[in-house]
Amino acid sequence: MNTEANGGVFLFQGDSLVVNDETPDTGVADGLPREIVHQAFKDTDYFEIPTVDATGIIRGAVLGKDEPLPTGWRAVPVRQWLSLISAGTTVDGAGPAGRMLRAYHIAQWQQDSLFCGSCGTKNIDAPDELARLCPACGRREYPRISPAVITIIMNDDGRALLAHNKKFAEGVYSLVAGFNEAGESLEATVAREIREEVGLEVKDIKYITSQPWPFPNSLMLGFTARYAGGEIRPDGIEIEDAKWFTRDDLPKLPGTGSVSRYLINGWLSNSL
Ligand SMILES: [Zn+2]
Repeated sequence: MNTEANGGVFLFQGDSLVVNDETPDTGVADGLPREIVHQAFKDTDYFEIPTVDATGIIRGAVLGKDEPLPTGWRAVPVRQWLSLISAGTTVDGAGPAGRMLRAYHIAQWQQDSLFCGSCGTKNIDAPDELARLCPACGRREYPRISPAVITIIMNDDGRALLAHNKKFAEGVYSLVAGFNEAGESLEATVAREIREEVGLEVKDIKYITSQPWPFPNSLMLGFTARYAGGEIRPDGIEIEDAKWFTRDDLPKLPGTGSVSRYLINGWLSNSL
């Protein structure tokens, strides 16, 4: 286990996790052994942060975006690892996927919080908690977490609404999602996003689960809702197409390890 003081390092470059070709996919969840990382990237500094339950340490390092990788190393998008290492763990961030996601979130935040947002002085790490501290004005900055909702809409005919977002791979349909606005409850976000993106009204909005989603800094909150009225009208901006699907006639679905797939699987197994 890598929550020990002698655990491994999660090495990031851009939106990818950097691994050695010899690293088994399942081994990525604990980070790479420090000796191996140190040999290949001698001048790289590591950050150390506590696990969320404060019983262990997570280590991370960030390589320059254009830094060439040594022979035998490759960068794989963090999202791709999710489906590989999340098997057997919950979507809520517990387990190995949670450690990697925490390391990734903090790695990005550290790059984005170099200077005080109030007076522009270079920040330092706060000595007493996971925060950036401005040595001039004392302002503290904490890792930013932006709530976003994702909802499976079900109707009375046993169908679910799945939508194709223009950012998705061809043929993939998933759930309607969007960011919470300042001053808005999560339930209101669910209703508004569905209205804006596919033109439907919903009722019986229920919270199901959540997942850290640091792409770049979200917390994804999963909901169910029931169709209450309206005709499907994709917004044409984010959503190119949306349809009601039955359980035995499905399009390509998002990968496992995501809250969207978790909700779709829950609908497929009648457990929502
Ligand atoms: Zn300041």
